[in-house]
Amino acid sequence: MFNEEITAKFRSIPTPFYYYDLDLLRDTLSACSQEAGKNGYLLHYALKANANPIILSLISAAGYGADCVSGNEITAATANGFNPKQIMFSGVGKSDDEIRLALVLGIQSLNVESIQEMVVINELASGMRLKADISLRIIPNVDARTHRYITTGLEENKFGILPWEFDHVLETLKTLDHLHLKGLHFHIGSQITDLDVFKSLCHRVNDINNWFISNQVFPQILNVGGGLGIDYHEPGKNPIPGFASYFNVFKKFIELQGNQQLHFEPGRALVGQCGSLITRVLFVKKGISTRFAIVDAGMNDLIRPALYQSYHKIENLTSSGKIEKYDVVGPVCESSDCFGKAVSLPETSRHDLLAIRSAGAYGQTMASRYNLRDLATAVYSEEEFNG
Ligand SMILES: *Cc1c(COP(=O)(O)O)cnc(C)c1O
Repeated sequence: MFNEEITAKFRSIPTPFYYYDLDLLRDTLSACSQEAGKNGYLLHYALKANANPIILSLISAAGYGADCVSGNEITAATANGFNPKQIMFSGVGKSDDEIRLALVLGIQSLNVESIQEMVVINELASGMRLKADISLRIIPNVDARTHRYITTGLEENKFGILPWEFDHVLETLKTLDHLHLKGLHFHIGSQITDLDVFKSLCHRVNDINNWFISNQVFPQILNVGGGLGIDYHEPGKNPIPGFASYFNVFKKFIELQGNQQLHFEPGRALVGQCGSLITRVLFVKKGISTRFAIVDAGMNDLIRPALYQSYHKIENLTSSGKIEKYDVVGPVCESSDCFGKAVSLPETSRHDLLAIRSAGAYGQTMASRYNLRDLATAVYSEEEFNG
């Protein structure tokens, strides 16, 4: 990803910044849509992974729909080329204004996470004299076997509707004239690398789908969410996730009835590998048993290591010295502001440039101004998009 020419260019750019390889993004988008297309599956990109406008425009141009979790994400999606008819809106806490925005735009589906929310959407739709297309977000009770902060498909999570509520849901639906039930929605978590998890999801979706059909409710859309993981350890070897094997699990195990459509909402899998956080070394400090490479990027720029104890591969782009171990840490006043412990790097000194890889997903979107630090800018592999 980083040849000498690019590294030379980086030297003159203020750090830290996110660098996006747009060729890799395009290749990833086409690999995913090609594999999904073979089975007639539809794709919605989960904006929360990265809502950078240039990235959004490339994804919408590649024909993807959008999965949004806030009113502002819906606005960003429509501003960057997504068709409202291909926008889904999920989230446990939608405000009245956000629901109204979705209704005005006539989006594809509001994914409803509780009975109370159904009642509120019905009321708001009634006030606007229209009918709301909804899907039920269901907790399938499948363990995603991922970090507990990014698992969402278990009974104790705050998300969605539980199977023991289904009778009550259908009774309530009968009384709500301004709702149209379009589908069932599932999303069990993120950074899932064990494909057996998706096989378990398929079995649960089949059971739940059959339950609704046997109760005279036919879901047109089955949406199985996102969650496919990426290779944080070997981003160079595996820049594009194994979409073929992923979709094959569904092809093999999901039982679609009649003309039901299967929808997916990948986020991380599409944008994770195309982004790196580029940072300069400010100081190298010798501790009692370790060396610290203190860099100018902090946990406010990329919070994943601090929040989820997640691993990112770190490379020194400008040194070829002998390999040493460093704790790579940021300047923020928190001990969790650490990008990696005992990282093997060529001998590292002040002003070296480091790349923190696989930072395209949940990087820039989760940035904050903690410590009143400036937000990292974005730099693209294609000149025409730069400043
Ligand atoms: C976050 C989220 C996604 C995307 O998850 P990834 O792990 O990034 O693929 C999809 N659907 C919903 C409802 C989400 O909240």
